[in-house]
Amino acid sequence: MDFLKTRYTPMNRRRRIYEGKAKVLYEGPEPGTLIQHFKDDATAFNAKKHEVIDGKGVLNNRISEYIFQNLNDIGVPTHFIRRLNMREQLIREVEIIPLEVVVRNVAAGSLAKRLGLEEGTQLPRSIIEFYYKNDALDDPMVSEEHITAFGWANPQEIDDIMALAIRVNDFLSGLFLGAGIRLIDFKMETGRIWEGDMMRIVVADEISPDSCRLWDVKSADKLDKDRFRRDMGGLVEAYQEVARRLGILGESENALAGGPRLVQP
Ligand code: UDP
Repeated sequence: MDFLKTRYTPMNRRRRIYEGKAKVLYEGPEPGTLIQHFKDDATAFNAKKHEVIDGKGVLNNRISEYIFQNLNDIGVPTHFIRRLNMREQLIREVEIIPLEVVVRNVAAGSLAKRLGLEEGTQLPRSIIEFYYKNDALDDPMVSEEHITAFGWANPQEIDDIMALAIRVNDFLSGLFLGAGIRLIDFKMETGRIWEGDMMRIVVADEISPDSCRLWDVKSADKLDKDRFRRDMGGLVEAYQEVARRLGILGESENALAGGPRLVQP
């Protein structure tokens, strides 16, 4: 990967392609690549609530790296190439499909409200929902009819997206259960990549406690962004706990410590 060093550009001179609520995308070192930078910003309710939470970006970068690398390793295609530093990862440029794909195993959040279900009720089976990515419209829920009628994805692509969503859900459910965590629901995004004449759909964006509901198996404590949405506090500690349980951070490692460490004699 030495070629990646040849076009190194200092951070402040890199071309910014896109700035979102929690991430920035910069031009990558090679055509067809981008750099995904994780910020510390937390937003909810379509950015009506906003806060900067020190260290969140570093943790999400590490957790999302771990999940995407594992997905790549089991043959679920993703945009992830490799982590570059504390806040950034090298990814493949994709054509984002403008849908948020939500997979639910247990009733919570907007589903619990919409259908009058008690949060924590196990669903009869995993349910996949689609939301149209559009901040001005507050990401409305849409059906396959809307998706095909407006040309956001064709029926074959919807099948591919659903097959990916089920594989990601099965993988994540097992991964988190092994760490004593119940995967309630999560959101993923997908994009198109062309390889010659072949197009394929890959998992894109991030998968982290910002985009999942994660409850401790025993206590049902929330280890996810609901701590921010519901003003519960302790968000960074919860994300750190997720990273520690997944084995990403060693017992004594502090993902947020940038400077020299005190070494115990
Ligand atoms: N989610 C997300 N981004 C969004 C909306 C939802 O990552 O813009 C995730 C959320 O963290 C949860 C799942 O998708 O894990 C389902 O969210 P829900 O529809 O219940 O909406 P919410 O109650 O979070 O607004």
